[in-house]
Amino acid sequence: MKKLYYFDNSATTKIDERVLKSMLPYLKENYGNASSIYSLGRESREAIDSAREKVAKALGCDGKEIFFTNSGTESDNWAIKGVAFANREKGNHIITSRIEHHAVLHTCEYLEKQGFEVTYLPVKKNGVVDIKELKKAIRKETILISIMYANNEIGTIEPIKEIGEIAKEKGIYFHTDAVQAVGNVEINLNELNIDLLTLSGHKFNGPKGIGALYIKNGVRIENLLHGGGQERGKRASTENVANIVGLGEAIELATENIEKKGEYVKTLREKCIEGILEKIPDTILNGDREKRLPGNVNVCFKYIEGESILLMLDRLGICASSGSACTSGSLDPSHVLLAIGLDHETAHGSLRLSFSKDNTEEEIDYLLEVLPDIISKLRRMSPLYNKE
Ligand SMILES: *Cc1c(COP(=O)(O)O)cnc(C)c1O
Repeated sequence: MKKLYYFDNSATTKIDERVLKSMLPYLKENYGNASSIYSLGRESREAIDSAREKVAKALGCDGKEIFFTNSGTESDNWAIKGVAFANREKGNHIITSRIEHHAVLHTCEYLEKQGFEVTYLPVKKNGVVDIKELKKAIRKETILISIMYANNEIGTIEPIKEIGEIAKEKGIYFHTDAVQAVGNVEINLNELNIDLLTLSGHKFNGPKGIGALYIKNGVRIENLLHGGGQERGKRASTENVANIVGLGEAIELATENIEKKGEYVKTLREKCIEGILEKIPDTILNGDREKRLPGNVNVCFKYIEGESILLMLDRLGICASSGSACTSGSLDPSHVLLAIGLDHETAHGSLRLSFSKDNTEEEIDYLLEVLPDIISKLRRMSPLYNKE
């Protein structure tokens, strides 16, 4: 079989063998409904409780503050709609940023149709939210600030501690979409004023279709799903025991030696960034040089289309992305790249590579060997380039 070079860990990750193994009993012999009182059911309940404790331990919170959902998208929807609807009498204003994932942006747009007002904060050229703008945007009706922990396209890590302090001082709830951060950077909820936090299993070697929402004790939030009394009456539907067990196992493994693994992944990132900028002219590095996810590289090659780079890389067994997986297939340039000030033409030539602990230096060497030729070939065919 041809070797696969998997450089798209921000889109999804490969399930860890140990995670898969932990899940299998709950897909086979341990099929009990966690709400049933006989021992087969109680075993499922215990497995869920144990997974909940693992998630809580990884984040530095209480198990009672962790609620399982079906995805990062669901957690984002629940956090934002739930807080908005539960706190309507207090105010109708929400603050978010222009570079959020669509799970946040489209939820906010939906709420605008329901009578809420939303401020979409601009970001600086490096993708960092402007704290001055945030302070200016706060009104007495503001009930929620939702700013992502780390951006999925350009990898920028936001000033979460500072934003949390501002939110706390003003008595505003603070939600963060930490889907890209959990399992990649250390997060300690004890040190951050976060009221709600979204995470998703498949972004850190867990299964797809499982997420969690951290809801700090005392936060006023409405349910998104109505039905049975699961998740302590807050999130109806029969628990996906196997996926929950897998999420618990995955977060425990991902947060073990997280700093050391991060340092390693960062060396791959640095090698890749330096190699690309050195070998390929007319290239822009997007995002912040320092405040970025250990495994994120995002560059724009002028005069060409990101999609065509992806097709040529795919022929060599290299998986990468242009913009984000969610917007690929559409012809609109990434809203994130436009928000950091790139023009449409430049934004179209973007390439995102996202590395994990399973990637190697040799793999980066191979990429750096083939990429310059691909770019010059595409540029030679580009009408934009010939005009220069
Ligand atoms: C992947 C991702 C999501 C969506 O999570 P799913 O579990 O795939 O629904 C939300 N936000 C960010 C930042 C992501 O990267």
